[in-house]
Amino acid sequence: MPALSDLYQEMRGCTRCQLAKGRTNVVPGEGPERPKFVLIGEAPGFHEDRQGRPFVGAAGQLLNELLQSIGLSRRDVYIANIIKCRPPNNRDPLPEEIAACEPWLNSQLAALAPKLIVTLGRFSMNRFLPGAIISKVHGQPTRLPDGRTLMPMFHPAAALHQPKYRSLIEADFARIPALLQQLETAADQPAASTATPTPTAASETAGEEAKPQAAEPKQLSLF
Ligand code: URA
Repeated sequence: MPALSDLYQEMRGCTRCQLAKGRTNVVPGEGPERPKFVLIGEAPGFHEDRQGRPFVGAAGQLLNELLQSIGLSRRDVYIANIIKCRPPNNRDPLPEEIAACEPWLNSQLAALAPKLIVTLGRFSMNRFLPGAIISKVHGQPTRLPDGRTLMPMFHPAAALHQPKYRSLIEADFARIPALLQQLETAADQPAASTATPTPTAASETAGEEAKPQAAEPKQLSLF
């Protein structure tokens, strides 16, 4: 498995999609190799493209505050995006751009091996829960088929534009410390002690509105 630094080097030369032409910098992601959890946003914006770093604009400022609200800082978490180059005029990422960038994110997640992934916004959520509706599933932890836990949240930019989302994202963030604690405790216990998981609202919603995944995400028995 390539080290993160080797991956960054490779990403910086990436020409897998048309976004390579318009970028100033690739924005691979940043954080420690053993983060407390991984946050995945959508795509770099203007400031991220200029600096080559994720979430350094206004949404990033709010993200910093949200981390602070649970006693953490950017040094504790890994921050990435589903696509690594800025779309023109900050338009939504196209399916082919997300697909072209997917191997990079997969390699990052393989290297980081996080127990918890927090998705910010619907694009990154739908990468793990196709068809899920963010207003229905935000803040609900779900166990993915590979055993990792996913917590979908609204994008901080939504909270900047519409104040009603700010209290929702704050409340969802406030659940993270207890969730991390539960995941640590579960990891320390023998496998047999985890109860049979049941489908979550997230996976049910995904099932209603889109083709279910081959292996459906499961709700953690802890919640
Ligand atoms: N929004 C994102 O989704 N990612 C960034 O890096 C910045 C803003």
